[in-house]
Amino acid sequence: MTPKDLKAIVRTVPDFPAPGVQFRDITTLIGHGVGFAAAVGHLARLAQAAGAQAIAGMEARGFIFGAAVAVQLGVGFIPVRKPGKLPVATLGVDYVLEYGSDRLEIDPGAIAAGERVIIVDDLIATGGTALAAAALLRKAGAVVPTAIFAIDLPDLGGAAKLRADGIAVDALMQ
Ligand code: IMP
Repeated sequence: MTPKDLKAIVRTVPDFPAPGVQFRDITTLIGHGVGFAAAVGHLARLAQAAGAQAIAGMEARGFIFGAAVAVQLGVGFIPVRKPGKLPVATLGVDYVLEYGSDRLEIDPGAIAAGERVIIVDDLIATGGTALAAAALLRKAGAVVPTAIFAIDLPDLGGAAKLRADGIAVDALMQ
């Protein structure tokens, strides 16, 4: 299936999680066996072209695509977790959301110095989550050349922000 075919099986849910928001829902994409496999295949090719030595994915939907891409490439997967979930001393980063703030944490032992880590997530909107993940991975010694998404919402400017931070961005659909 082409990225255009995949776009047709992403569901749009109006007014979630707040009135006026058009939520792009990948539940229907990952529930389609052929579509999910094709999406993972496309993402894995992009990650391989970026020289992935490991894949990092953000909790929770980044785990679905990121882990599948890591398996396909035969590289390790680094979970970028919500606070308080990892059982070891973590490295963390706080970042600002439209309303309030959030925090991401990783196990610093999961990354070798200079390792090329590719970020994978379902969707990039404002880019705040991916920028925070990149900062955290870099703090742990990773090189983060590229971030890859199933969906980019270009009007929200996230991809442009990542590129301004020296991170190449690829997405299967806009
Ligand atoms: P950002 O930090 O503004 O780029 O938002 C991206 C994060 O929020 C990702 O981890 C997405 O999973 C989630 N997100 C934001 N908007 C949507 C949406 O329309 N559909 C699915 N996830 C979304």
